[in-house]
Parts: sequence; C-alpha cells; structure tokens
Amino acid sequence: QAPIPRPNLELRPLGNTGLKVSCVGFGASPLGSVFGPCSEHDAVASVREAFRLGINYFDTSPFYGGTMSEKMLGKGLKALGVPRNEYIVSTKCGRYKEGFDFSAERVTRSIEESLERLQLDYVDILLCHDIEFGSLDQVVNETIPALQKLKEAGKTRFIGITGLPLSVFTYVLDRVPPGTVDVILSYCHYSINDSTLVDLLPYLKSKGVGVISASPLAMGLLTENGPPEWHPASPELKAACKAAAAYCKEKGKSISKLAMQYGLGNKDIPTVLVGMKSVKQVEENVAAATELATFGKDHQALSEINAILSSVKNQTWPSGIQQS
Ligand code: NAD
Repeated sequence: QAPIPRPNLELRPLGNTGLKVSCVGFGASPLGSVFGPCSEHDAVASVREAFRLGINYFDTSPFYGGTMSEKMLGKGLKALGVPRNEYIVSTKCGRYKEGFDFSAERVTRSIEESLERLQLDYVDILLCHDIEFGSLDQVVNETIPALQKLKEAGKTRFIGITGLPLSVFTYVLDRVPPGTVDVILSYCHYSINDSTLVDLLPYLKSKGVGVISASPLAMGLLTENGPPEWHPASPELKAACKAAAAYCKEKGKSISKLAMQYGLGNKDIPTVLVGMKSVKQVEENVAAATELATFGKDHQALSEINAILSSVKNQTWPSGIQQS
C-alpha cells in the first residue's frame, strides 16, 4: 500500500511521556453509536480521513457502545495499513456496560480483551475510566499498581485516570509516587461554557502529568444539532447553549468551529479530543485547527457567545458516588 501523504497538523508533547500528540485528537465514542448510529463504513472512513489529515491520536473505551467503539476503531486502524508507531491509541478500564469494576483482577483482564478488539499488541495509554464512580482509595492502592504492572508487561506504554470532577485528579496525584500517573483525561471542563480545567494546569504541570482535554463541544451542547437525549446538563445549560448555537447560525458562524478553536488556543493543553463519526466532521475539526493557526481566534464571536452563556458559565453536573 502506498504511504498516506499527511499535512502538518501541530504535534504537541504530552507531559513527560515523550509522545507527541496531534493537537486535534480523535474521540472514538461516536464510533460506538453513542451519539446516534454510526455505520462500519463511516467509522473506517472517519479514522482514515483523520489519519490522512494529520491526526495521530485516537481514544476509545470498552464502555463506548458496549465494546463497539473499540472494535470499530480497531478495524479503522488496521485498514490504514501503516506501521504501529505512527499512531497513538488510548483505551480505558474499570467502566463497562455492566457497571464499574476497578479491581486489579478486572482491569488486568480488561486490557487483554481491549487489545483483542482493537487488534493491537499494546496500547500507548491505558486510563482508569471515570474513577469518581469507584473508591478513589482503591484506585490509588489497587488499580494504579495493577496498571503499572501492565506497563511493565508491555501491554501499555503509559497509564492515567479520567473523570468529571477535577478534584479526583488532585486526590489521586497527591497520593501516588511522583511519575506514577503519566496522564489525566478531563472532559467538559475546557470549552466556551466551562473552562475550569485552566486552574488545574499549573498543578498538573508541576506533577509532570500530560493533559488530555476531551469534549470540546461539551458532548454536543456546542453543536448545531444539539446534545443527545442522555446528556446530563441542566435544562438551563442546554437552553443557553442552544441559544448560542442559534445565534452563531444566524451570523453565518459555526459554534463547533468556535468551540474547537477555543480549546486549541491553549498551548498548555496538548490535545483536544473531539468525538467524530463522519469524514465531514473530521474535515471540519481539522480545518478549525489549521484556520486557527493561520487567522487566530474569532474574538468578536467568542465574546458574543460568552455573553449569551454568562448565566451558565462553568456550570457542570454531578457525577460519581459520595466518597467515604
Ligand atoms: P464532544 O464534545 O467531542 O462532542 C461530540 C459530538 O459532537 C458528537 O455528536 C459528534 O458527532 C459531534 N461533532 C463532532 N464534530 C462536529 C462538527 N464539526 N460539527 C458538528 N458536530 C460535531 O464529546 P465526546 O465525543 O463525548 O468527547 C470526545 C472524546 O473524548 C470521546 O469520544 C471520548 O473518546 C473522550 N471522552 C472521554 C471521557 C472519559 O474518559 N470519561 C468522557 C468524555 C469524552
């Protein structure tokens, strides 16, 4: 197969991992039909177009679409027919269709299952998925040590944690030896409506932890089509985002492009992980990055949207269990 020619989407270092991730990362949860149906054809074509346009980082989880996302991403990556070291893959463990299980036994089995579905020998990053739903002390004392063993066994090159409340990151990072957790994945906390992740960046930098910022479109709130049925935002937040999207449309602007550019504009955030399930979405989100590099942010439109969203700024939603 002829090599795929690839333009230069900006690559940024991910913490101390030595990995250089594309500033736009490919979130594969939509490949599990989490945001409406996604055919295998569209899944494979989206992955191909992403790679062709310079995206080198792909994220999935056994939870997305009850393993469907991992299978689709595996097919897409295999179809690229490129050497394994040309792309970076993260998957997760501890969260499944059946529920949460952060035990050492489950996460150790989990990676084997994921590798089989992904048709890979190793992943680059293995993340404990949504740790606020488990005991954080179990994550510190049992799950992370199990993941370290998987790292030593070559099943994953790096390990990390994900969650919605930003407090889970400091809880864990303050309790594990330095350098144990390589990356964190935060979502819905660095976009136009909620930018609270910014306050944590100096701390994460001091810990040498790489930052993956997911859901720049606030899981669909900042799109013209709006969020899926299951979206946990309050009616007030949904209404404000809907009004912002309508305002952009009226002005001939794209709310998704503005939201992508907002996320990409912070160089301390190595990669903005956006969920995609069509070639068109891939092209639009990569274009948002290249246009930002050429023309800079649309400050006027951003401040107008900010005004529309001011009453819900930094509003989030509850996630997880009460920690004892
Ligand atoms: P997102 O904010 O990236 O939004 C995704 C939605 O926007 C989908 O409906 C998608 O089809 C749509 N979309 C994408 N590009 C578009 C465009 N140009 N125009 C219009 N609509 C567009 O939310 P997300 O997918 O939840 O987050 C991104 C990725 O981050 C996920 O796929 C997943 O890989 C990861 N993630 C991880 C966690 C976690 O670990 N707990 C949580 C959330 C997300």
